Amino acid sequence: MGLLVVGSIALDSVITPFGETADALGGAAVFFAMAGAVLHPVQVVGVVGNDFPEAHLQKLAARGVDLAGVEGQPGESFRWKARYSYDLNSRETLETRLGVFADFQPRIPEKFRDAKFVFLGNIDPELQLNVLDQVKQPKLVACDTMNYWIQGKKDLLLELLRHIDILMVNDSEARELSGDWNVYRAAHWILGRGPKMVVIKQGEHGALLVDPTTMFKVPAYPLQEVFDPTGAGDAFAGGFMGYLASTGDVSDASLRRAMVYGAALGSFAVEAFGVEGLADVTLADVRARVRAFKDLVHFDMDEANRP
Ligand code: AMP
Repeated sequence: MGLLVVGSIALDSVITPFGETADALGGAAVFFAMAGAVLHPVQVVGVVGNDFPEAHLQKLAARGVDLAGVEGQPGESFRWKARYSYDLNSRETLETRLGVFADFQPRIPEKFRDAKFVFLGNIDPELQLNVLDQVKQPKLVACDTMNYWIQGKKDLLLELLRHIDILMVNDSEARELSGDWNVYRAAHWILGRGPKMVVIKQGEHGALLVDPTTMFKVPAYPLQEVFDPTGAGDAFAGGFMGYLASTGDVSDASLRRAMVYGAALGSFAVEAFGVEGLADVTLADVRARVRAFKDLVHFDMDEANRP
């Protein structure tokens, strides 16, 4: 079952208290693909400029990622620069240079149009809708967005919500979109606009899956070393969608497991700079971490009814 992602392919420059990178491989579609490909082949649609290093694309190819949808355009690649605070909980965007990404018009290659699992990375909601017109009959569509689109293109975003299965956003985006500070009420507000489910990413507090009748919460893996939180959310999405695509199962039980696979891949992403934390991860590593999650949250009720 094809797994398609559309989103940014970037040259990231990131400063954390532990070091910095310059023009490193990054972008939402890249983190998604590097994570998802551990579980299931990923097809990428995006754009790069003619300054994009071939070696960066090779890293994705080495993971078996299908790059047939990556267009090269004359001009500069998308560049993003950010600095994290000492506790890594907040970051400041220092520079966003759109380059060829400014005129990105996603064209889905014919061989990707049958994809059953589709992730619409954080791009203009107009383009996200346009991608949905090009794919034939997806089984599950998940979608990310950001404050910029919530503020600038809310009507189109609301239109998009009517056509997707899962909105996957962080807590501040859910609050801003709904206008409600309470994330649980915010999730239900979003559910009222069309999606069957909402996944709210909460950084070091894990992630929450909400549907109209139930909720499921996965913690973040308790890491003693975090180097670079960039792309954790996209790696989470890659793990989540990669698990679903590899099983083809979208039952409630499978969605709960997908949340844990997402959290596992997100945790590998933050253990090193850029995509390096994901580059050598094996399926066995992921399974071992998923098992660790099981131990982390498992408990038995005291059935004797003692207090
Ligand atoms: P995250 O840490 O999940 O917010 O994702 C960070 C990634 O998103 C970086 O690799 C950036 O290159 C990419 N990114 C940052 N700003 C944008 C934007 N406006 N549109 C698309 N991708 C972006």
